[in-house]
Amino acid sequence: FNVDKIRNFCIIAHIDHGKSTLADRLLEITGAIAKTEKNKQVLDKLQVERERGITVKAQTASLFYSHQGQQYLLNLIDTPGHVDFSYEVSRSISACQGVLLIVDANQGIQAQTVANFYLAFEAQLAIIPVINKIDLRNADPERVESQIEKVFDIPREECIRISAKLGTNVEKVLQAVVDRIPPPVACPSDPFKALVFDSSFDHYRGVVTNVALFGGQVKKGDRIVSAYLGKTYEGELGLFRPDEHPTQKLYAGQVGYIIAGMKDVKEAQIGDTLHLQERPVEALPGFKPAKAMVFAGMYPMDQSEYPGLRSAIERLTLNDSSVTVQRDSSLALGAGWRLGFLGLLHMEVFNQRLEQEYNASVIVTAPTVPYKAILSSAKLIKEHGGKEITIVNPAQFPDKAAVSEYLEPVVLGTILAPDSYTGKIMSMCLSRRAIQKNIVYIDDQRVMMKYLFPLNEIVVDFYDQLKSLSSGYASFDYENAGYQTAELIKMDILLNGKPVEELATIVQRDRAYSTGKSMCERLKDAIPRQMFEIAIQAAIGSKIIARETIKAYRNNVLAKCYGGDITRKMKLLKKQAEGKKKMRLIGRVEVPKDAFINVLKRL
Ligand code: GDP
Ligand code: MG
Repeated sequence: FNVDKIRNFCIIAHIDHGKSTLADRLLEITGAIAKTEKNKQVLDKLQVERERGITVKAQTASLFYSHQGQQYLLNLIDTPGHVDFSYEVSRSISACQGVLLIVDANQGIQAQTVANFYLAFEAQLAIIPVINKIDLRNADPERVESQIEKVFDIPREECIRISAKLGTNVEKVLQAVVDRIPPPVACPSDPFKALVFDSSFDHYRGVVTNVALFGGQVKKGDRIVSAYLGKTYEGELGLFRPDEHPTQKLYAGQVGYIIAGMKDVKEAQIGDTLHLQERPVEALPGFKPAKAMVFAGMYPMDQSEYPGLRSAIERLTLNDSSVTVQRDSSLALGAGWRLGFLGLLHMEVFNQRLEQEYNASVIVTAPTVPYKAILSSAKLIKEHGGKEITIVNPAQFPDKAAVSEYLEPVVLGTILAPDSYTGKIMSMCLSRRAIQKNIVYIDDQRVMMKYLFPLNEIVVDFYDQLKSLSSGYASFDYENAGYQTAELIKMDILLNGKPVEELATIVQRDRAYSTGKSMCERLKDAIPRQMFEIAIQAAIGSKIIARETIKAYRNNVLAKCYGGDITRKMKLLKKQAEGKKKMRLIGRVEVPKDAFINVLKRL
């Protein structure tokens, strides 16, 4: 293929605006997949994606398209929409020259529409606005076009109105891709040079790297070098159509995969440059590493499961390079890891994937944001090799006596909502210690608000609460905005006098009492009655600030059976035993494993 017949583009949008559905239609029209009822969101391959109905992982597909007697090779990258996965979007963008910016004809511009637009705009990509779901009864494409004109400064004439569901005007989208997106700048006569923009791990074949060729060509069996590690590999190559389709060669401008026989998962560095052994090149700029916003400890339920969990975490982090991993250990939980995530949904999805794809059973500790402390104790400064330390683990929270100042991360949040909810949203933001920065109308009914939030106020359940108070109409996105001074203390939760390591948290000093009280109350609801009394306490140092009690109770499952049905009895006993497997013992107290995350959510 000649480079000027290649188009590399990704589909970006707010969640649920129809990216994956449009991708399905594009795959069908170009004959990559059969047109059947069963093929829905075919690029969402992961079980979590199918269950939650969201895209978590960007996917690539190469399409062949004839237009005015010419054959084109279109490389499509479907991306996730949720704020936690925007790192996937920015990586996909680096392999493309254009984007399809999808906006729902009924919902209009939402917070991630704005965020994703700026990612593409800053990367100077061609942007094709596509208004989707025009088949809906209350679709209002006129209004959405006005919003696009006002917020993004794109002339309304450039918008394409489609229904991805019915296939209406989808052909026009393909034409626009060919006409409006420039071909990649990649010279076939240059030495082979490829950007590794993504990777995944396959149980059978090891590491699969997604590559974009910025120059030259590579053929099966060539000796390929990773610029980052300097290691040499011999590769198998191919295109995603959308399943892997082996080929003999890949050419300048193409997007495809290389399976280079990398043994160790750490060898496939996202942002790395590949070149031929005999023709070294200057490495491409690569990526800024993703910034983790939420940290949590992960431990095996039983220390004998440590090696299995380690390899599961290693493999999964290869599929998701935005997770940071550090080894950690705790007295109560043994050896484990401290992982950093881009947000809470990201953390939940990671945990779910560990359990579903790797059959691992994990204890997850309370999520915390990366706090900082400026040390004043000369001894500690020497120990840490500097004045400033980052605290991602409540167990390592330094005492006030050794600290001159604590700092907390802040983010700049964008909220879009119908103006009838403005009052409610403002008072909720206020209760989360937010400072208003800006408020503008994007049309006669919708408002865009900007607030500076302490990150810990939005990390756990802000989004859920925003959704419920706006009947689902508000959307939210945020970006890093540095640090601010904060009054912090560490709070422990005790069960019958034993600290629950999972629940140790760093809290705002003036929130300690109310947080402690509500955590105790919720824990009381989450722990079943047992054969002895259980005291639940919140403590700051040795001072108890809240307490709840669970009364003793004999949980006799057999009492429910009348007389002799022995199979029923066995079934019940088995059920109870299974229930117990998911319990964690703290002292003598059994705690359901999933109780903690619920306790942490402010309801
Ligand atoms: P994504 O999150 O952007 O990938 O969105 P999906 O492609 O998963 O679509 C979200 C929901 O919108 C699904 O239930 C789709 O069936 C639905 N949807 C997508 N496109 C259309 C459309 O053109 N018309 C209608 N009525 N529904 C659509
Ligand atoms: Mg999707």
